Amino acid sequence: MNSKNVLLIFKSNIMYKPVIYRLAKDFDLVFNILEAKILPRREGRILLELRGPDEIIDQGIKFLQDHHVVVELLSEKVWREEDNCVHCGACVGLCPTAALSVHEPDRKVAFEVTKCVACGMCGLVCPFGAMKDITLFDPFAEGRVNS
Ligand code: SF4
Ligand code: SF4
Repeated sequence: MNSKNVLLIFKSNIMYKPVIYRLAKDFDLVFNILEAKILPRREGRILLELRGPDEIIDQGIKFLQDHHVVVELLSEKVWREEDNCVHCGACVGLCPTAALSVHEPDRKVAFEVTKCVACGMCGLVCPFGAMKDITLFDPFAEGRVNS
């Protein structure tokens, strides 16, 4: 069983259709809504954790895309520039999901993208600009995606 965090963007013509429900019904995927924001009659954005076998997750993502949902993989949008990180730990306490954590015994800060919900806090506090991409960290910023 694997998991992927995806940002789904629903334009007004599809935002009230029950496509997420069909991920469970037709693909037997487990989903967990991490964040959601609805701008009535304009746009819906949902940050979703999908759980299941890799190939079934991919089929579910294709199903969403075929139904005109914009799907962005969070792992492609949030990353750490390893050369810039000095493991100062400033980001750890602010991360709401423990995606950033201090590992013993070397006290290095680990980043687990599968736990990340793209809240953007680490990008704001990192003094070395190690956490990227800050403009995409706010997945609910209006007008970021035009398709
Ligand atoms: S704040 Fe920046 S430099 Fe410090 S541990 Fe976090 S990512 Fe690394
Ligand atoms: S974007 Fe938010 S959830 Fe993701 S690693 Fe940074 S602080 Fe944690």
